[in-house]
Parts: sequence; structure tokens; C-alpha cells
Amino acid sequence: MTDARGAERLSDQWDDQTAAGMSEPDLLLYRSNLLGSDLRITNFGGGNTSAKVKQKDPLTGKDVSVLWVKGSGGDLGSMKRDGFSTLYLDKLESLKGLYRGLEHEDEMVGYLPHCTFDLNPRAASIDTPLHAFIPKAHVDHMHPDAVIAIAASNASERLTKEAFGGEIGWLPWQRPGFDLGLKLEAMAKGQPALKGIVLAGHGLFTWGDTAKECYQQTLRIIQKAADHLVAKGKAEPFGKAVAKPLDEAGKAAFLTELVPGLRGKLSKGVPKVMHFTDAPEVMEFVDAARAEELAAIGTSCPDHFLRTKIWPLFLPFDPAKEKADAAAGRLDSLLEGYRKRYEAYYERCKRPTSPAMRDPYPVIVLVPGVGLLSFAKDKATARIASEFYVNAINVMRGAESVSAYVPIPEQEAFDIEYWLLEEAKLQRMPRPKSLEGRIALVTGGAGGIGGATARRLLAEGACVVITDIDPAALDEALASLRKDHGKDRVRAFRCDVTDEASVRDSYGYALRELGGLDILVSNAGIASAAPVEETPLEVWNRNLGILATGYFLVSRDAFALMKRQGIGGSIVFIGSKNALVASSGASAYCSAKAAATHLARCLALEGAEIGVRANVVNPDAVIRGSRIWGGTWRAERAASNKITDAEIEDFYRKRSLMKRSVFPEDIAEAVYFFASELSAKSTGNILNVDAGNVASFTR
Ligand SMILES: [Zn+2]
Repeated sequence: MTDARGAERLSDQWDDQTAAGMSEPDLLLYRSNLLGSDLRITNFGGGNTSAKVKQKDPLTGKDVSVLWVKGSGGDLGSMKRDGFSTLYLDKLESLKGLYRGLEHEDEMVGYLPHCTFDLNPRAASIDTPLHAFIPKAHVDHMHPDAVIAIAASNASERLTKEAFGGEIGWLPWQRPGFDLGLKLEAMAKGQPALKGIVLAGHGLFTWGDTAKECYQQTLRIIQKAADHLVAKGKAEPFGKAVAKPLDEAGKAAFLTELVPGLRGKLSKGVPKVMHFTDAPEVMEFVDAARAEELAAIGTSCPDHFLRTKIWPLFLPFDPAKEKADAAAGRLDSLLEGYRKRYEAYYERCKRPTSPAMRDPYPVIVLVPGVGLLSFAKDKATARIASEFYVNAINVMRGAESVSAYVPIPEQEAFDIEYWLLEEAKLQRMPRPKSLEGRIALVTGGAGGIGGATARRLLAEGACVVITDIDPAALDEALASLRKDHGKDRVRAFRCDVTDEASVRDSYGYALRELGGLDILVSNAGIASAAPVEETPLEVWNRNLGILATGYFLVSRDAFALMKRQGIGGSIVFIGSKNALVASSGASAYCSAKAAATHLARCLALEGAEIGVRANVVNPDAVIRGSRIWGGTWRAERAASNKITDAEIEDFYRKRSLMKRSVFPEDIAEAVYFFASELSAKSTGNILNVDAGNVASFTR
């Protein structure tokens, strides 16, 4: 069913058959997963649910009331049963006797672990008292855009009455904590007919006597808010559309021009990955007359600005009259202005105990006619930040359509952003992996060495674009990498490294999908063997085309992109023993490999002053997983060494000084060394990974 604007209505997904026979904790989980699966009900990672359950106390064997409430972290949509913390309700009640008042609120968080039931290791969230003190068995706390629109408007209290006709209470903005828990309790007890409470600038509480009733209540109330906005809202709350959006190609060209410099400027401290979206709700906002004015007000709901920063950067641009370079030319002064504004906000609002100022640059960049760019330490964080800004846009649209959008007071926003409890959460996060925020492109990424390299870089936190000429192999490699490393950080693009346009397109793709490039692994290769007088020109050209010209094309464009970003980079060539040692019957291959090796040295020379390093890894006889060794090369090498196909692997192992086979993972390890800061001071080098071969000792 759809409403007047064509929006789908929230649908009741509760299935009695599925729910039949479930225990109370399982019903709570079922309800939580249902609620979290629709972003209109609550945003990613936002909101929490609870149930008050009678259980046997493991110490006394007596029945006690236990609060099951979503613990700290995680997302309702995907959480499992271990995502709930469990606490003795009577112990939580007894905390009221310890509470010393608002200024001592944070110390109450320290008491929560003392209330743990059954040694549950899941940390209780700061929202725990909000659920504990509401005298209802089942409580939902959601962050629905439609309700926050009402909650973040300057007529919030009146609109709450109008939209819900008195069945929902209203509390002014207050940071979540013990005190807000007491206020919710007082209101729920004082007005027993209430079905829920709107928290200004924040979200919604709803409740029920059973899990199902609570779920349906929550849906009904959110739908009521959405209906009210549709019925009472005015058209074009953002003002008239003034920017004419660029077409697909125009947007791509714009990003190619703007993003390298922008990413470079935002990555001076910590490297950043970009996410781009031009979703319809984003375009409606950025193209509208009032976009700049509304963006400057900042995001309102705490969940939103913790992800998006308090304000986005609005980049003025007239797509009808200007080219991308005009927008790029404004970046320096706009970023400088943003930094100063953020620093002034920090100085104005900081308290004696506040943590040090964090990165003063924007997370969200809005461009009329183009869309929304978000930058964060990894791809998932950047994507989620952009999703949160879409939530903020929905809130602004709703609020402006019936009233005026208002943010929570600046000091309150600051106190949340720099809350010591938030800081403690940040400090508890695992240390970033060594390549977090870095973007790598691996040519020949569907092959043995390319695939192992992609995996190694992904394991260190990098985003990776694999390219390959073989689309079927590329699809298979992409699926396999995504299975192990998730969708966010892995991309694939079909590329012929001998084709200038194809190479250029692969970087355009990396730029639009991830924001740029820090690491190039030039790996796409072939091999052929024939005595020199029997080598046709076509074979010679093919070897030179892929192994020399191909390496030139991919590294030339990578070099140019890295230079524009201005944050250095690492180029790694997969070379060959044959670049150093002439090998009989393979003149085309050996010569092409030697050309590539020398190209790496030239890149090292020209790249030094801009922090771009270039190094070579020389594998030898990496047979397992290799497509080169699966073809005629294997037979040619076998014939040339007077052995059978089956003896190849053993032959090469025995030929090495250390009598060991070399695997793709061994090569990947050396690539990782050159790609990472471990080798920050190495350039123009060759690293042999061949189990020892005296002829290839470098000198
Ligand atoms: Zn909340």
C-alpha cells in the first residue's frame, strides 16, 4: 500500500507462526530484527529494545525480574541474542538511592555492570535506565525520520499533540542517561493512558504488554507521524529546485576533476575513503534553493551528527554555467573556513575535562547538481555517514514542511560529541589496521598472484579494486573476495592494460567508487617461450604490449592520480627473475620484463619528491593458482627443461637454493611490504621471492 506521495506504508511483518513457542528473549530478538530491518523505523545502529523477563536467579533459584535490553554497539536489524545485556531489575531500581543529581549523571554508568544478571559479558548501554524505569514489560526506542522531523521542529510539543492526538507524551531535549530515565518513568506513571513519548531533538519511546503489541504499537505510531507530515506538509519545503543536475557522464567528469584534490586535502592526517551518492532525496536537497541555508544549521539527532559531524560542507556550484574546476578552485578557502568554524565551536563549548579536538574537517560534502560525497577512515563508515545524512535530509524535509527545523542547542551537541563516555568508546576501538583508509588497484586481480595480493591488502584494511581482462574470472574473483571481506571494500573493473582508454576508465571507476588511489600493483601478465629465430613479431609485440606498455600505462595514470592527491603512494611491479637473468628460449618475455623493471626505477626517481615510491617484487616459478602456468607456457617450459608437465613443480622446487616451492601468498607478502609504511624508506628496489636463485642475486 502506498500513501498520497507514493511512499510505501510500513507493513506489519509479525508472523504468529514464526513467533509461536518462542521464549521471551527470543521474541524480543525477533521483534528487534523486524524493527531494525526497515530504515524508516530506525536508522542503522540506532535505537534499542527491551523486555522485562521473569527468570530463575542462578544463585538462589528464585524467580527474579531481569531487564533484557540491547547492549552497547551493534544494529537491531542484524543483532543476535548475545547483543542484549541482562540486568537485575531490582538492582537497577536500587541505583535511584545512589543518584546524586544531573551533574553526577555519568557516574551512574559505572554502576550498571554491578547489576549484571548471569555474568552476561555484553556491556549495558547508556540508554539502559530509559528502558528500566518505564513501568511496561516491553519497550521500543526508535529513531524514525518521520518522528524526528516532529521532534526536531520548533513547534515540536504542539506538533506531537496534533499528530498523535494526546496518546503520545512529549519531553524536551535532554541527553540520554539516568535523569532522563527518571523523567520517562514519571511521565509514564503520571499519565497511564500514554502509548509512548516523543523526545525532542532525538526520537521515540513506545511500549506494550506483549512483544507483538509493542511492535505493532511502534509501527502504528511511526505511520501516524508519517501520515501527519503528508497531510499537513507543504510542498517544496527546501524551496524551488534551482540547480539543474548533471547527467551521468557530467557527474563522472566532475568527480574526476574534484575528488583527487579534495581527498588529498582531507587525508593529510588520516587517509580517507570516499562514498558518493546521488540518490533522489539527496538531489532534491542539494539542488534546492534553501540547501545551503539548511545545511548550515547542522544535523540534529545525536546519532546523525556523531556520524556526519555537526555540519556538512556545502560546495557552491552552478552546473549550468560552471565547470568542475570552478568548484575545485573554491575548496581551499571553504575547507579553511570549515576548519576555523569547527575550531571556534570546540573552543566555545569545551569543558575542562573535554578530550582533545578531533579532525576539524568535514565528513559530508554537498554539491548542487552532483550529489553527496562522504569521507571517512574506511568505506563502510563513509557509506554509513552518507546514509545518516539522508536521514538528516528526511528530518529537515519533514520539519520544514510543517514548521521550522531546529537543531539541539550547540553546547548540547558538543557535550554529546565530546562526551567522555563516547571518548571511552573510541579508545576501546581496536587499533586501525595498517592499510585502513588506503585504496589499492591490482591488475590481473583474477589470477593467482593478483588474487593472493588482493587478499593480503584487504586483510590489512585496504579497499581494493581488482581489474582483469577476463570478465568471467573477474566475477568469480570478486564474489570470492566479497565473501571473505564484505561488499564495501572490494570492487572489480574489466580492464585491458594495453588499452589507454580502458586504463583511464579503471582509475575513473576507482575514483568514483572509493575516492582515489594509494597503491598500484601492476601484475597483469602473460608468458611465452620460443627460440629467438622462431619468435614471431606478433609474440614479441604481445609480450612488450602487456608487460612493458601495459605496465607503463597503468603506472603512468596511477602516478598522475597520486600526484594530484598529494599524499604520496606506492607502486609495486610484479617482475620476474627473467628481468635480471636471460633465460634461453624466452627472449620476448625476458626483454619485456626487463623493460618493466627499468620503468620502475624511472618511476622511483621521478616519484621521490612527491612521496610516490616504486619497487619490484620478483617471483620465480609460482605455479600453484597461476593462469600463466596453466597454459602453453607450462608445456614449453617442461619441454625446454626436458621434463614432463607433472614434474614441473618438483623441478622448480629442487632448482631453488632452499628447495622450497614458492606460492602466490609468498609474493603477496612482499607486495604488502612495499605497499605499506613498513617500507616507507625503500624505493627503486627489487625483492626476490624465489626460494633462492644465485643467478638473480641483485647487485
Ligand atoms: Zn536514541
